[in-house]
Amino acid sequence: MLILGSHVSFGKDQILGSTKEALSYGANTFMFYTGAPQNTIRKEINLDLLTEAKQLMKENNIEIENIVCHAPYIINLANKKDPTKWDFSINFLKQELKRCDQLGIKSIVLHPGSAVSYTKEEALENIVEALNLVLEKEYNCKILLETMAGKGSECGSSLEEIEYLLKNVKGSIGVCLDTCHLNDSGISIANFDDYLEEFEQRIGLNKIGCIHINDSKNELSSHKDRHANIGYGTIGFENLLHVIYHQKLENIPKILETPYVGENWESKEKKYAPYRFEIEMIKQKEWDQLLIEHINDYYK
Ligand code: FE
Ligand code: FE
Ligand code: ZN
Repeated sequence: MLILGSHVSFGKDQILGSTKEALSYGANTFMFYTGAPQNTIRKEINLDLLTEAKQLMKENNIEIENIVCHAPYIINLANKKDPTKWDFSINFLKQELKRCDQLGIKSIVLHPGSAVSYTKEEALENIVEALNLVLEKEYNCKILLETMAGKGSECGSSLEEIEYLLKNVKGSIGVCLDTCHLNDSGISIANFDDYLEEFEQRIGLNKIGCIHINDSKNELSSHKDRHANIGYGTIGFENLLHVIYHQKLENIPKILETPYVGENWESKEKKYAPYRFEIEMIKQKEWDQLLIEHINDYYK
């Protein structure tokens, strides 16, 4: 079955609000941050809202196992130059896992981290050490390391690095593929099957817990990380469909993190969520050439 959704907000109604937003897009899963992705201000989980959300999910065939959380960007396990910040990252991740367990969420996506002044080898070692500290306690929620574009000193932009992390972390962790990041890191989505085969041999497809479906604003190997709307970037609609409907990746949640759009492609103010339209074109397997017009008409 196609399990498809998008990034949604987790506002004052917490996961109930997220569920309603996902349903408004015609999605059967979603991804959320437990607060703003750029900061670590978090509210207590409200259990009444959770109960109501679970009821709504049940009525609409959303399986909670397919919902994904994303850890905030400011967690950086790779850099321990400032031990206070590194400890903060470790503790914050522990709290996120605890919140996910409270919610019944089974996976949380994490950017492995940026090396900053460390060498790649040292940085990977720092990540392993940090994850081993986080996983001293067991959680039901699993950490999924995201494949990165290789912007700046980002770790996790090659299969070798992801493999190293998975083999050296003591607890059970998985992987979240991101099509834009793969493209920007140098993996052509047009040859996705070659990548998947190598992934299968070196890591195992059972480790893939989520796939972020994004087109890319930049060329292959650009190391940029700028997402484009589906079919409006350098990857293209057909190549993305191939990943989305791949037989070997059935039942893995696919999450759109494509940009909001404005009145036109050039407008600076991005206010409309494209997801209901992108989800529809993926379901229809037909690219919507007039995406922006349809979005503008709908929200007007
Ligand atoms: Fe991410
Ligand atoms: Fe992503
Ligand atoms: Zn990205």
